[in-house]
Amino acid sequence: MKSRKIIDSTEIEKIIQDSEICTIGMVDEDNMPYTLPFSFGYGNETVYLHSAPEGRKTGILKNNPNVCISFSTAHQLHRQSGDVACSYSMRYKSVLLKGKVEFVSDYDAKVLALNLIMKHYTGKDDFTYNAPSVNNVVIMKIKAVSVEGKAFGY
Ligand SMILES: Cc1cc2nc3c(=O)[nH]c(=O)nc-3n(C[C@H](O)[C@H](O)[C@H](O)COP(=O)(O)OP(=O)(O)OC[C@H]3O[C@@H](n4cnc5c(N)ncnc54)[C@H](O)[C@@H]3O)c2cc1C
Repeated sequence: MKSRKIIDSTEIEKIIQDSEICTIGMVDEDNMPYTLPFSFGYGNETVYLHSAPEGRKTGILKNNPNVCISFSTAHQLHRQSGDVACSYSMRYKSVLLKGKVEFVSDYDAKVLALNLIMKHYTGKDDFTYNAPSVNNVVIMKIKAVSVEGKAFGY
């Protein structure tokens, strides 16, 4: 089985939308990698994240907004021979998206981001929110600067 590059934007968007979560890769104050799994919303080549105000990641991202985000889906263990370890492989489709985190403070923009996150997990468009929760939540948006797709076994 071969891997293939994915350049078609529709296929790339489908991989992102089919991914259950993403992993955010960032660089901490000691120049060390720090990665975290996150729920997300996606639209218009932009990833939206939400979080509590406190925590290590927000400090890191305010200091260095550069991120590399990975998405993957269609995971499927494949084998040619059950007893031969090297004949096993994992089929997948994945995307790497790079960009800079922007912190969103405008109330209506926060609601739009939350709607995209909710849509990703429920398929539904409209939700109600209470103002204190929206004011309190941290919303981060990452407009894609580069996107790469790759599939193995598909
Ligand atoms: C499937 C999934 C979805 C998630 N979705 C979201 C989301 O949408 N929004 C959100 O804010 N968070 C989400 N989380 C949690 C997220 O991964 C972080 O744990 C959380 O945001 C706290 O990160 P922090 O840097 O603020 O850590 P802090 O609370 O500051 O934690 C301190 C230390 O705990 C350790 N740590 C932090 N997170 C993890 C972790 N996940 N696993 C192991 N050790 C850890 C680190 O060493 C860190 O230095 C999700 C986690 C999972 C598994």
